[in-house]
Amino acid sequence: MKVLLCSSEIVPFAKTGGLADVAGALPFALENIGIEVILAMPKYKSIDEAKFGLKKLNKDIYTAKIGKGITVYFIDNKKYFDRDGLYGDKDGDYPDNLERFAYFSHRVLDLLPQIDFKADCLHCNDWQSALIPVYLKTIYKEKSFYKNMGTMLTVHNLAYQGLFSKSEFPKLGLDWNVFTMDGLEFYDKVNFLKGGIAFCDIVTTVSRAYAQEIQTKEFGCGLEGLLNKRRDVLYGVINGLDCGAWDPSEDKLIFKPYSSGNWEDKYFNKTALQKECGLQVDPNIPLLGFVGRLAEQKGLDIFAAAIDEITKLNLQLVFLGTGDMKYHLLLQGVAKKLPCTLSLSLKFDNSLAHKIYAASDIFLMPSRYEPCGLGQMISLKYATIPLVFKTGGLADTIEDYDPLTDKGNGFVFDCYSKSALVKEIKTALYFYQQKNIWNKLMDRAVKYNFSWDESAKKYRDLYKKCKPSA
Ligand code: ADP
Repeated sequence: MKVLLCSSEIVPFAKTGGLADVAGALPFALENIGIEVILAMPKYKSIDEAKFGLKKLNKDIYTAKIGKGITVYFIDNKKYFDRDGLYGDKDGDYPDNLERFAYFSHRVLDLLPQIDFKADCLHCNDWQSALIPVYLKTIYKEKSFYKNMGTMLTVHNLAYQGLFSKSEFPKLGLDWNVFTMDGLEFYDKVNFLKGGIAFCDIVTTVSRAYAQEIQTKEFGCGLEGLLNKRRDVLYGVINGLDCGAWDPSEDKLIFKPYSSGNWEDKYFNKTALQKECGLQVDPNIPLLGFVGRLAEQKGLDIFAAAIDEITKLNLQLVFLGTGDMKYHLLLQGVAKKLPCTLSLSLKFDNSLAHKIYAASDIFLMPSRYEPCGLGQMISLKYATIPLVFKTGGLADTIEDYDPLTDKGNGFVFDCYSKSALVKEIKTALYFYQQKNIWNKLMDRAVKYNFSWDESAKKYRDLYKKCKPSA
């Protein structure tokens, strides 16, 4: 089975978000189960050629090797990719993003005969490579080399669709007959993601619950009708976690590594972080951690509305993140007023993130929507019990603790409101006080296996199904 995975960002070469993590980790798991996989991405200016051992294949293609035998192909184009950002700069998105990623998609397709790679499936990701299925079924349709290639498009976050002015459509080289309601047209604009969803053979997204949710008006970002129409080929495959990077027994970024059952060492991390953050040093006060974007998507709106009630409870909060200015200001005000209750770091800091995952008792992730989410999986690995809203990947990975059946691995509220959030925090605090229950929750949390192995097998089954339709 041969697969080409296309992504506009791949760890370790270039990253702005979770897409890069997936595109950097999934290929290793695919290779381990016998799939011949190659990768393609743009050759951005920021990619360190010497560090990654890039070699020039021909005038505009570079290669590097990862894993046992995975080749990464970098598409070079000085005009489009030799700049500081991936998608934009301080003034916003680059104005020629339509041309940049249309070019990328074309060049990836042209590459295949040059390297004689007859892929069974072209696995595209997000709007930046969503034109590949469109081109394959239009401009490349009659070319025999591509005859049996299937296409899969994975949507990592439906909110980002690649929208452009209609006046730019001719630059794509496509016939106007695809600029329709069933194709790339979206409220008189060009929509790359919509085109990809309409033309690909299989659509996936990063959790089963999100695959259902995006067919509704509430979560569909205007594409719910099309997604519903394509529901027979729409699947959810949960992302895995890079278990090497997130392992408390090997973690060099935390105060003291610890392993399952060795909870004294976890509490050592807690008191050390309390000290570092200027909070009262006391292993018995429940410590609630948050690491993430300070945005409405992450539940900051209901958290902000509930903050007066929450800070009156017997707890401490440690927040790390950046995002909307209104949440920066609000949290800064609370941290100033209540420095013994809220510690706030408005920055991106991987090392502090590790410390928070290790030190906290409860991990707050009340996201309004969450395609997959990593924080809840990481926190379980660190025996930090997640408190989440029942949505998307959070609903797929976290089950509400039920004392009657002694089942569950976290605290889940299912009505998105300030009062439900406060109530759930109170429930979690109640069980936190019962050490026998809490210890059992921690013991169970670390046993969850979120490795890529299972998800890679699901992708393999879908690649097998991925046959070109008419
Ligand atoms: P997103 O929607 O932002 O991709 P995820 O939960 O899928 O959310 O992944 C976010 C990842 O980024 C997590 O690994 C989280 O720990 C990390 N992260 C987010 N904000 C910060 C920050 N300010 N500092 C360090 N790590 C962060």
